[in-house]
Amino acid sequence: MPRRRPRAVVIGAGFGGLAAAYELSKDGLADVTVLEKAGDIGGVWRANTYPGAACDVPSNLYSYSFARKTDWGRRYAEQPDILGYIHDTADRFGLRPLVRTGVEVTSAHYDDSTATWRVATSSGEVLEADVLVPAVGQLSRPALPTIPGLDAFAGPSFHSAEWRHDVDLAGTRVAVLGTGASAIQFVPRIRRIAGHVTVFQRSAPYVVPKPDRAYTGAHRAAFRKVPGFAAAMRQLIWEISEFFGLALTRVAPLARLIGIVAAANLKRHIKDPVLRAKLTPDYPIGCKRVLFSSDWYPALACDNVDVETAAITEVTPTGVRTDDGRLHDVDVIIYGTGFKATEFLAPMTITGRDGRDLHSQWREGARAHLGIAVPGFPNMFLIYGPNTNLGSSSIILMMEQQARYIRQIVQELARGGAARAFEVRRAVEQAYDAEVQSRLDAGVWTTCESWYRTASGRVTTNWPGLVREYRRRTQTASFADFEEILPASAAREVGV
Ligand SMILES: Cc1cc2nc3c(=O)[nH]c(=O)nc-3n(C[C@H](O)[C@H](O)[C@H](O)COP(=O)(O)OP(=O)(O)OC[C@H]3O[C@@H](n4cnc5c(N)ncnc54)[C@H](O)[C@@H]3O)c2cc1C
Repeated sequence: MPRRRPRAVVIGAGFGGLAAAYELSKDGLADVTVLEKAGDIGGVWRANTYPGAACDVPSNLYSYSFARKTDWGRRYAEQPDILGYIHDTADRFGLRPLVRTGVEVTSAHYDDSTATWRVATSSGEVLEADVLVPAVGQLSRPALPTIPGLDAFAGPSFHSAEWRHDVDLAGTRVAVLGTGASAIQFVPRIRRIAGHVTVFQRSAPYVVPKPDRAYTGAHRAAFRKVPGFAAAMRQLIWEISEFFGLALTRVAPLARLIGIVAAANLKRHIKDPVLRAKLTPDYPIGCKRVLFSSDWYPALACDNVDVETAAITEVTPTGVRTDDGRLHDVDVIIYGTGFKATEFLAPMTITGRDGRDLHSQWREGARAHLGIAVPGFPNMFLIYGPNTNLGSSSIILMMEQQARYIRQIVQELARGGAARAFEVRRAVEQAYDAEVQSRLDAGVWTTCESWYRTASGRVTTNWPGLVREYRRRTQTASFADFEEILPASAAREVGV
């Protein structure tokens, strides 16, 4: 059987895009080009440089299985170290020459006659590819709140993922909007230098202590020299994360146990009953992401920090007005308001077979078989696609599975000389989606509003099970789930 080298275009050079580039370029399988709109690789770890930015899954697990690192500085690495790791890994595995930075993909169009993708960039360039791998992340586009007057504020204002390091916060009055995973990391840092911080909270998160620690020389020596130690630690952390996943997705008594830990954490640090009441969540544990921090509550208990729970009605030139009529005068506003997580692949235009538009097909919410394959879009395979986010464990475990799965399909494409494409069968995708959604409907994520859900309430971000289950289901790409699409030109030649 003749072989051909498929051309793969990967969109995005974060952890996901680089995982795909690693798998698809390994052993010269495919001719890989990674297009990245930013000026460098790293994805969220390039963008999020706010003070205190760090992972909330231990780095032993929040790292590639093919690039184990034994000298992390601490259990939960901070952003500079994670970004450094991404750079080192890209260099070590020869991925950097595959990446073209400063190239934004605006559209991708499947050409039925040749069974190829035409990928257009903002500079007007068009690349041709046999395989398209969008790896643009779920959390790469910052979301600002829809509050009147946002542009009216006279002082500096910025989103946490676009931190203004040129703004000196020393002695200033700062408004922080949001109390999610980013805010709980940067508020404890900025309150050390700011004159006063007002944290505007819409809903209180559950917060459990973060068992972070700096690794000593002995730790690092053990990771490096003791056979199996690093692997055993990774496995242990994985099992603990799976326990969390089990508690949050399936076993209510275990979730209640985590709730007890969170309540004890709150009680230990917040003595003021009024503040404690404000910081007590009013929704079932697990519905929004459970946060890990040992310095969030101590920071909120400080004299120069206030927690405001009145709803914001407008931003004025001098501050933030709440619905009780008060105007909170501030010098700087920081939006810790998260990301447009449910707007998968936006704002790109993706056109599949017979000219179908992906965003129209996803009108009711993004969906894909195993989070990877979409009917009507042959040879397009997603990384970190719909329903592959986790409430607890490392996303990198999911991405590596997706990359390996895609590799198997590309291997199949490489066999045989002619152009061809694989498209997931509609019935397979429908059955999968029905299963996933019914499990999600029965779970905790539909019991409150969160970034996991679309405006209509569909959970499009999260995977309903454990990583172990996802791994089992994506271990071997089943070609029975796909139909083979020949280019229209070839079909004509054989008289179909
Ligand atoms: C602050 C923060 C902390 C996090 N901590 C954790 C953690 O501890 N554990 C965990 O499991 N997960 C964590 N996550 C989730 C995180 O999103 C994933 O773990 C992972 O890093 C995402 O990688 P990605 O490559 O899929 O996406 P991203 O890192 O978002 O990369 C996507 C890339 O695509 C590029 N791109 C987008 N559109 C285009 C386009 N049209 N053309 C070209 N390029 C484009 C973007 O510029 C970006 O570089 C965190 C997320 C954030 C924001």
